[in-house]
Amino acid sequence: MTQAVVVGAGLKGIAAARALALEGCQTILVDPAPRLGGVYATIPWEGFSLDIGRHIFPGGVPATAVLQDLAGAPFREVRPRAASISFGCRTLDSELPDFTHLDDDARGALLADVLDHAVRAGPEAAAPPCPHLTMAAQLEHRFGARAAAALAPMAAKILQADPAEISGLGLLPAPFTRLRLADDETTAALKRVPAFDRVLQQINLTGSPSSDPAPARHLYPASGGMGGFASACAKRLEELGVALELGRTVRALSPGARGGHLVLLDDGRSLSPDIVVWTSGAPALAGLMGLDPAPIEAEARPAPIVLYYFDIPAQAATGLNWVWDFDPDHLAFRISVPSLIDPANAPDGRHYVCAEVPVPLDGPVFADPAAHAQTVWAEVHAAGIAAGPMPERFRTMKTPVAYRSCTPAWREALVPLQERLARHEGLEMTDEFLFGAAPSVQEAARAVSTALDGPSAARLAG
Ligand SMILES: Cc1cc2nc3c(=O)[nH]c(=O)nc-3n(C[C@H](O)[C@H](O)[C@H](O)COP(=O)(O)OP(=O)(O)OC[C@H]3O[C@@H](n4cnc5c(N)ncnc54)[C@H](O)[C@@H]3O)c2cc1C
Repeated sequence: MTQAVVVGAGLKGIAAARALALEGCQTILVDPAPRLGGVYATIPWEGFSLDIGRHIFPGGVPATAVLQDLAGAPFREVRPRAASISFGCRTLDSELPDFTHLDDDARGALLADVLDHAVRAGPEAAAPPCPHLTMAAQLEHRFGARAAAALAPMAAKILQADPAEISGLGLLPAPFTRLRLADDETTAALKRVPAFDRVLQQINLTGSPSSDPAPARHLYPASGGMGGFASACAKRLEELGVALELGRTVRALSPGARGGHLVLLDDGRSLSPDIVVWTSGAPALAGLMGLDPAPIEAEARPAPIVLYYFDIPAQAATGLNWVWDFDPDHLAFRISVPSLIDPANAPDGRHYVCAEVPVPLDGPVFADPAAHAQTVWAEVHAAGIAAGPMPERFRTMKTPVAYRSCTPAWREALVPLQERLARHEGLEMTDEFLFGAAPSVQEAARAVSTALDGPSAARLAG
């Protein structure tokens, strides 16, 4: 039987371990944390089960079936009420930057520029994010120069990195693939002109929020929030025969040329798998393979986030579930009420608000988050998420690396590691910059099938 080790028990590692077990491999899943799930966790606090930020699964994509199988119980379908804030104004039922709040001249010039650009660029404008372009260039490629310039400070706030420095892949966690640029009447008029209608569809410009299909169907675990989902994953993996090695670190890795790798754990045990799927980032793997991780690390830009959790009376929640705040001079970029999705995650009569605040590591908010709670609460209030005075009970949580962006030079910095990996069949690494549940599941499937496709794996299976 083919032996497999998966390193890292976040969603990518969980999905990889499941896929390997279903292929009949004897699989071990290793993670230094005492529980699996990575960022899918539940923090108990005053009777609440807090998720780490706003997390929700996409419905209606192929990855949903995998998530569903891991959950072991039907997800609840949610259609949360969203809004967005741009240029100091709130737009209900939209998760997009909304340029219709600009004055007439600015809005007209922007719309003309975007349409002109889209007509010139043709379908190319809608190409998926490119790792070799900077995010600034990617935005310009998609929407033209004016819109790109307007979006740059919004992107810099969310990603805590200069869009001119990071790769176009930065678009993945930022909701900038569509914009709201025109009111209903203008959009309807444009759509009557076939050339503009094609362009509007091509670059996904939207008119009124009500004609916007977002928020689409979303899914949420039936009980226990994202931590409950992670526990269900542990159960499902054990059912599939996966051995969980939690609280364990990989100390050393000696890859064999044709499978037969050696993995040394920190408790002194050694494993001899045919396949290793690494889901814990390239720098750590480079270090284990005797390469200098510094050149790779230098091309990553971590985004620190401070999470603010406010305990509010249920009647203070307005029903609005999440708000994207694109204004660069506001602290929060996303404010949500996850317990509106599953009230069981809050004590009776209470809800919790979660504000995600991206800030520099060396700035005053990261140094003393509590001192800024009043400002964040004022933003919660202005977003229309909750009413009433600043709650007495709140807590903060610092996440120094909530997520990371890479520079366009990342792939180049990775070449020595990739060359080394190519010499060893059955040793595969997932792409750490693929963000979100569905891309994570797809990436895990790709890594597993590549690892299994190696001739040595075929030999072993045969
Ligand atoms: C605040 C926040 C909000 C988010 N919101 C959304 C959202 O709304 N929608 C969405 O789709 N996605 C969202 N995401 C992204 C989503 O959570 C991630 O894309 C996904 O969970 C990543 O899974 P992963 O396995 O790559 O990483 P992780 O969950 O980070 O797991 C990595 C695992 O590797 C382990 N590890 C680290 N170093 C080592 C090592 N040296 N050896 C062994 N193991 C190691 C860690 O312990 C961890 O368990 C959000 C992320 C954050 C942080």
